[in-house]
Amino acid sequence: MGVMPTVSLYEVSPRDGLQNEASVVSTEGKAELIGRLVQAGVRDIEVTSFVGPRWIPQLADAPSLMRMLPTVEGVRYWGLVPNRVGLERALDSGMTHVATFLSASETHNKKNLNRTVRESVANVEEVLAVARDEGVAVRGYISTVFGCPYEGPVPVENTLRIVDRLLAGGVETVVLGDTTGMGNPRQVKDVVARLVAAGLDAHRIALHLHDTRGTALANAIAGYEVGVRQFDGSVAGMGGCPYAPGASGNAASEDLVYTFEAMGIHTGVNLEALAEAGGLAEALVGRELPGRFHLSWKGARVRAAARTA
Ligand code: MG
Repeated sequence: MGVMPTVSLYEVSPRDGLQNEASVVSTEGKAELIGRLVQAGVRDIEVTSFVGPRWIPQLADAPSLMRMLPTVEGVRYWGLVPNRVGLERALDSGMTHVATFLSASETHNKKNLNRTVRESVANVEEVLAVARDEGVAVRGYISTVFGCPYEGPVPVENTLRIVDRLLAGGVETVVLGDTTGMGNPRQVKDVVARLVAAGLDAHRIALHLHDTRGTALANAIAGYEVGVRQFDGSVAGMGGCPYAPGASGNAASEDLVYTFEAMGIHTGVNLEALAEAGGLAEALVGRELPGRFHLSWKGARVRAAARTA
């Protein structure tokens, strides 16, 4: 038996990463990437989305992808669902773990979901109710917790109100999203502390951080220091920022694993195997990916190849 991981990586590249990349990746390519992530020791992977196929053509192959994925003990494949219809499609594909989402700010919610926050809360409650009847675990993403690209600062009370409803509905994990990378470490600590004071166990909080302004890793460590134990990452930093073309988006998985392991905090993930998965991710999307560990790993390979040439 290995050492139990003390933090866990929730890998988002096959869904959130690819959704924000321009090139369309084949279903086989996605299955290969997911297989590599599993081999590296990743236990939670958001593999696809059951948002209408017309909205996200990149993820329209969800049912056939699900048929390709190996069943591995301890590995949980998650599917994103926007509403009850999406949940039913996910159930038809055999998903047992789903993630759903809404925003803490009105304008972002309206632009992203074409609904008011109040309407979205009702939608999420419906997803939670059906999921509970089906024995399906639900992860609830709250976007723009640390700032909104349209409204600027977002009051923590918005998040607290949504969290109350998610918990009442039986959500497994509350995911705090720093959608545009506006958060800072002090704010992460303050927001998590407010949620914990309101009765939410820190172990049920995950952080979905973006590195748009170079703060993702600092924010992750701040979250760890106040008890957060699950972190979303995208291998090699796949997935740009939709609001800033060319900018970094998702926190890079290798950067998170490298930093936690260097601090003596176990992740259960083999960094070298994860870096190999990052190399595959880059080949699949056909552009240079921005993860910092990824870049240094690539550089080391180039130097090693030059030495043996
Ligand atoms: Mg993201």
